[in-house]
Amino acid sequence: MPGKNLSREEAQQRAGILSVESYHVHLDVTSAVDPAAATFRSTTTVAFRCSAPGAATFADLLAPAVRSVSLNGRALDPAEVFDGARVTLDGLAEQNLLVVEADCAYSRTGEGMHRFVDPVDGETYLYTHYEPADARRVFADFEQPDLKAPFHFTVTAPAAWDVYSNAVHEDVTAEGTARTWTFAPTKPISTYLTAVVAGPYHVARDHYSRKLADGTTLEIPLAATCRRSLAQYFDSDEIFTVTKQGLDFFHEEFDYPYPFGKYDQCFVPEYNIGAMENPGCVTFREEFVFRSKVTEAAYEGRANVILHEMAHMWFGDLVTMKWWDDLWLKESFADFMGSFSQLEATKYRSAWITFANRRKAWAYRQDQFPTTHPITADIRDLEDAKLNFDGITYAKGASVLKQLVAYVGREAFFEGARQYFKRHAFGNTVLGDLLGVLEETSGRDLSSWSAAWLQTAGVNSLTPQITADAEGRITELAVLQDGDVLRPHRIAIGLYERDSVGNLQRTHRVELDVTGARTVVTELAGQPRPALVLLNDDDLTYCKIRFDDHSLETLRAALGDIADPLARALTWSAVWNLTRDGLMPARDYLALVQRFAGSESDIGVLQSLHLQAKGALDLYADPDSRPEAGRLLAESALRELRAAAPGSDHQLAWARFLAQTATGTEHLRLVSGLLAGTARIDGLAVDQELRWSLWLTLAAAGAASSEELRAELERDNTASGKQHLTHCLAALPTPGAKAAAWSAVVDSGELPNALVEAQIAGFAQPNQRELTAGYIAPYFEMLEDIWAQRSIEIAMRIVGGFFPRLQTTEETLAATDAWLADHRQAAPALRRLVLECRDDLARALRAQACDCG
Ligand SMILES: [Zn+2]
Repeated sequence: MPGKNLSREEAQQRAGILSVESYHVHLDVTSAVDPAAATFRSTTTVAFRCSAPGAATFADLLAPAVRSVSLNGRALDPAEVFDGARVTLDGLAEQNLLVVEADCAYSRTGEGMHRFVDPVDGETYLYTHYEPADARRVFADFEQPDLKAPFHFTVTAPAAWDVYSNAVHEDVTAEGTARTWTFAPTKPISTYLTAVVAGPYHVARDHYSRKLADGTTLEIPLAATCRRSLAQYFDSDEIFTVTKQGLDFFHEEFDYPYPFGKYDQCFVPEYNIGAMENPGCVTFREEFVFRSKVTEAAYEGRANVILHEMAHMWFGDLVTMKWWDDLWLKESFADFMGSFSQLEATKYRSAWITFANRRKAWAYRQDQFPTTHPITADIRDLEDAKLNFDGITYAKGASVLKQLVAYVGREAFFEGARQYFKRHAFGNTVLGDLLGVLEETSGRDLSSWSAAWLQTAGVNSLTPQITADAEGRITELAVLQDGDVLRPHRIAIGLYERDSVGNLQRTHRVELDVTGARTVVTELAGQPRPALVLLNDDDLTYCKIRFDDHSLETLRAALGDIADPLARALTWSAVWNLTRDGLMPARDYLALVQRFAGSESDIGVLQSLHLQAKGALDLYADPDSRPEAGRLLAESALRELRAAAPGSDHQLAWARFLAQTATGTEHLRLVSGLLAGTARIDGLAVDQELRWSLWLTLAAAGAASSEELRAELERDNTASGKQHLTHCLAALPTPGAKAAAWSAVVDSGELPNALVEAQIAGFAQPNQRELTAGYIAPYFEMLEDIWAQRSIEIAMRIVGGFFPRLQTTEETLAATDAWLADHRQAAPALRRLVLECRDDLARALRAQACDCG
């Protein structure tokens, strides 16, 4: 296999003959403060055994230059053994010592050793991010999860810096303008889980201790870091509170003491993902340090991520999947545990509502792509692995585990987890290892459950079919199931009626197993036909739900009157799926939002509704009626903004939504007035993040000049300010602005990840479709070069971000199909991305046809 990809077969062969005893890695990053320095010195010493002496293998390394390679004291010529991605090693002995000295590159893409310079104070910050396979950008290694080893890191850095890694530091020695940090050896961990964070980070410290069953006390030092210029916003107390609540919960449930010593949580700049579970040194995107007012949903979301990463200390770090096929073993669990522990251990009450509304929407979307896959995936190589951090692996997997808990019982589930940790500590596992312990603890055969839920793809729809007699009593209620694979579903069905004050309250609930294509619910025969029949009430299973006509009529008149927030969230989710599936016209969905979103009490659900309504307007609405639909949506936003309680989260959410939907001079005048301070909404703080949202509105509408936008940067000359300015400039409605954004991303690889994202976000605006129509052909022309030349993280953003999704025409669909037909040999991961974009486009065309009808 050529280049930097690595196949499953290669990894299996290598693990078949090698076992790694230790890594000693020395990194010298003193050059980081010199902007002209592109590389740092990396020296790796690996001790490993080979069960087939005489055999050959390779180490992984992505580095601009290798200075020396020595295997068992024998110097190898780097020019001969290093090809840019691999170091060939032949003539292995039983016991081997490999030393590789290399110049590795500082990264601007968030992969490997990312370097960032803070515009506020000029300080330089470094952090590493590796999953799935970028440790090899920082040191030579055997880059696969099942070759675990203890790591000994030493890092030489500028004297004024602090350095964090997976283990505690044992020693710091000063020499001139540098200090060398020596870290204790780690427990045996996988390469992708190692981490180094270095720079003049601000740090807050705390401590967790806990009496264990054997009478000893577990002590865990806690640290939380962020850039110095963010320290004023850093609410570390709240972060530590959730951290301690999580540690309490997982110790009680998992009965395996946290194995990695200390627990640092580092909030780092320009991070590509939410967070990464490096043992003892978790990295988070620093947008979780809130510079401006955010809603309670943002705090809830951050707490969920903190708990998700903490669950990984056991699921993923202590016990790790053998290869990326079983990525779900850690991600589904962490996703499930994040919500489960949040509800049980913290003050946040909405975990399952958010899960039903947001995480499942992600899963449903992904599961309807032609590229969907079973939860246990077939991951041939690292490119496959990279794309598998998706809605199936995380959210569908977690949904299925939620159902498994309902199926085997909570106690059997957690007892299974406890056994799993004890049995496989510091090892690697496959699906069967987990099912094995769960079968033992539950006494159930899980093979058919696993076959139905883990080993097949796709989502089922459940539809009620109701007949009633002349007196309005149910004669038969059946549940129809469709989908490529019919599955056993444990569901609840709720019957809802109006109470004396007009709220829709549940009057009946039955729980049953739905198995085949049609299941008759005998318990409900003879009941009065209710106002609303809600399938999958309480959200036990993973499915799309539909309504009978009578219930749908009730919802059109009274969706907002459903009293229970989870039932209401499920209903919102179901009508969104109807809209996406072209079964409900976008105008009907928008009418529901305009009518009932104002009374939605759950702030997370409200923010989802805003997102989805904007999507319905931009992609699913009949193009001819879109301007009028947009005007109505913006007017409802303004009405709700004025009606919201001063200073409330709801007020902030509606203000942002108005910024996204504003059309016409009246709205734009209000937006300008809020920025200038000449207009006020009582209780609404127009703080820096909101200011940038308002500037974006004006920029996209052609109501702000580039000079005005640049002046805002004077006010907020920060990393975040720079990203916002880039976003706004790219959104200006001129051919020059579009050409500049396109060129900055496509013609040059110099832009850091955060600015690539900002340029792409600004480029295509719904009210500027004609300005970007000419980029359809250039898009398809650039794809293969971009895939070949850029790192996969950046390439994925460009391929997905520049797809002409707003050009919803049959011509765009035809151009996409032509590219797919002409590029059958393109990289499978690239084809997967284009196929998913194509599917979204075809869906939008179907939804528009529905809205025209
Ligand atoms: Zn995770």
